[in-house]
Amino acid sequence: MAPARTILVCVALALSALVLVTSVSPTREEHVSLTREPTPSSREVSTIGRRAASPPPTTPSPSPSPRSPLPRAERTQFILMGMDTTPHWERRGFEDLYRYLNLRTPEGSPPSSYTLFIGTGGMQFDERRRDLSEAERVFQGVLPRHNPVFDYAESMEQIRGKIENIRRLGELGVEIGSHTVRHERGGEWTAAQWEHEIADHERILDLVQLPHPVGFRAPFLATNEHMYTALIAHHYRYDCSRTANSRVWPMRYPGTAAPDGTGLWQFGIPSVMIPGRDRPALLYDLNMEERLRRAAVAAGEDEESEILRWMDDAFYRAIDAEFRRRYRGARAPFLISGHGGFRDPITRFMRRVCRMDHVRCATFREVVDYMEAHPEMEGAR
Ligand SMILES: [Zn+2]
Repeated sequence: MAPARTILVCVALALSALVLVTSVSPTREEHVSLTREPTPSSREVSTIGRRAASPPPTTPSPSPSPRSPLPRAERTQFILMGMDTTPHWERRGFEDLYRYLNLRTPEGSPPSSYTLFIGTGGMQFDERRRDLSEAERVFQGVLPRHNPVFDYAESMEQIRGKIENIRRLGELGVEIGSHTVRHERGGEWTAAQWEHEIADHERILDLVQLPHPVGFRAPFLATNEHMYTALIAHHYRYDCSRTANSRVWPMRYPGTAAPDGTGLWQFGIPSVMIPGRDRPALLYDLNMEERLRRAAVAAGEDEESEILRWMDDAFYRAIDAEFRRRYRGARAPFLISGHGGFRDPITRFMRRVCRMDHVRCATFREVVDYMEAHPEMEGAR
């Protein structure tokens, strides 16, 4: 039996200073490292090329020109922390995190929030169990099972605890997105397989009377066009599984851009520079863990506690440098993504930047609302 995944955040008040103590066992559900590096998209390259080659227009366009994007200095820098993590059935660490981010927020300012992409496999019993009562059988998983990463529930108490924690977080203002039911690699899946997985996630949410999600992140970031078709059919509003175009403002999945501003929005996971490496590394916690550990050892650290401290420091400096670069630049939304690792540097970073002028730590859904109200920002750079 796999060990229970635990997430624990303790907020301690010591004298007048705030001390955040975090104790995290991040989920180890991604068994392979994520090594894909972003490359400039062909769209980006061709747009730049076209712009340089086009002569200035000599006659005014007959159609009304669309609003131009906000000047960079007037844009809001959105910080989108999104964790692919399902709340534990009895611990309340994520509520503590939300409250900590909003401690002593000036009155009238919008709250800082974040998004959790949950797996619903843990709200199901193993399909092979034969000892379930009639009431429990409702929660028995449906096939296919294949080789799921998520642990299934062992008791109704665990299922009820998870539901209660998710409901409380949603009421608090944390967005709850989907990270599927089984956490399998779907890059080669057929349309029917993706449809089954997305529909099954909703079936389970209906069973436990939780609302359907509007946002998605694919396990292992393994996507294909059938995944997008299924998301569109189930009225999802965004996906954040991509590893390209992160410095550009979100765009809608090709073919989904409706005249009223809606569509399936795509958010890119960024890459950041880290010490000892001349190419950027994907900012996704398990990828960063592997690379920073190697860098720490290469830098001469040999004790585990020192290695961990070095890694947290390097992680903080990496996200801070990327934030500054964005803030001075196009201010495209900045995604901080993973499974709950690097909680301490992420929390410190957010406590510091979320209250800066022109910065908002928001949920993805809030930024989708923003994009739909500001069509001129689509693809802005
Ligand atoms: Zn995952």
